[in-house]
Amino acid sequence: FNAINFEFDVVENVDISNYEGIFVFAEQRYGKLKTVSLELIGKAKSLAQELNTSVTAVLLGHSIDNLSKELIAYGADKVLVMDAPWLNDFNDHVYGEVMVKLIKDYKPEIVLIGATSNGRSLAPHISSSLRTGLTADCTVLDIDKEERLLLQTRPAFGGNLMATIVCENHRPQMSTVRPKVFKPLEPDYSREGIINILPIPTPVERFVEKIKNIDNNETISLADADIIVSVGKGIGSAKNIQLAKDLADVLGGALGASRSVVDSGWIPYSQQIGQTGKTVAPKIYIACGISGAIQHIAGLADIETIVAINIDPDAPIFKVAHYGIVGDCREILPMLIKKIK
Ligand code: FAD
Repeated sequence: FNAINFEFDVVENVDISNYEGIFVFAEQRYGKLKTVSLELIGKAKSLAQELNTSVTAVLLGHSIDNLSKELIAYGADKVLVMDAPWLNDFNDHVYGEVMVKLIKDYKPEIVLIGATSNGRSLAPHISSSLRTGLTADCTVLDIDKEERLLLQTRPAFGGNLMATIVCENHRPQMSTVRPKVFKPLEPDYSREGIINILPIPTPVERFVEKIKNIDNNETISLADADIIVSVGKGIGSAKNIQLAKDLADVLGGALGASRSVVDSGWIPYSQQIGQTGKTVAPKIYIACGISGAIQHIAGLADIETIVAINIDPDAPIFKVAHYGIVGDCREILPMLIKKIK
């Protein structure tokens, strides 16, 4: 990888000296914190130490006060909680307006948000309202102590090089960060922190109805799975995907796919892994009939064991695989399932 540095202004200079501290958006769904938020609290803690400042988790939702202690256990110094029925379900406009108001009031120098589907729609809403920069999908975060700059590194040009981006003249410096890039701290429930329950403003919009996301019918989410069985075009047909699903089920894992399979309409986009899909970091990744294109590999972060099944011994996937089986996945999958059962 080559390193390049972009430095750019977004709009006219602002007085950045008033900004201090790190905000982490504590994303929760159905009263459970997303692991990426805990990972970000841990990372924010080490960045805050370098800047000699504190970490504030921002928790929005309804009936969520029990999560504040968890955020403190994972490293937050302070939790700002806004609890209202109209915050029960995520809505980027409503959440965005609340976040913008809090950032204007508290003036954090850094805001970190998980690159989940919610985070990816929330972050640009905030950054465009505040007219500050946003670096999406960061994989490395560092601090330039002297300048109090966040060095935000992310893959660029199809993962062929790493770009380090700084937001020099505006605040806050905002990043979304892919799940599983950082490790959460060991929780310490004896840690003390400040929990600040915020007054509830009149909502600018109200949430009317949540329509079930039919695209997201995974039983085990790809982000949390320890084992992922992933299918590529080599599986042959939509019907054959059941073979990979069966293997995922016997292993207690999740089902993923390459873009070709998604583009063929065999599986929903929510299961696509890669540059334009999800980044995953299971312990074991079993690639069935996947060629191993660079855009697919870009979605595999820090995986302990990759197993590839491919009919072509020269398929690029074997360059990254720890174990390889050269053969027809439609024959090998039933054998594996039988053996494991
Ligand atoms: P193929 O390339 O068609 O490969 C099929 C493989 O299956 C071959 O290696 C073949 O040998 C093997 N095979 C065939 N039959 C069998 C069998 N019976 N048993 C076992 N093996 C068999 N791709 C992604 O996956 N994720 C992304 O996020 C993504 N983003 C992209 C973004 C951009 C900007 C671009 C340009 C491309 C992107 N792609 C992405 C597409 C990527 O370049 C590849 O085209 C895609 O990953 C190929 O999918 P595949 O390996 O399933 O299919």
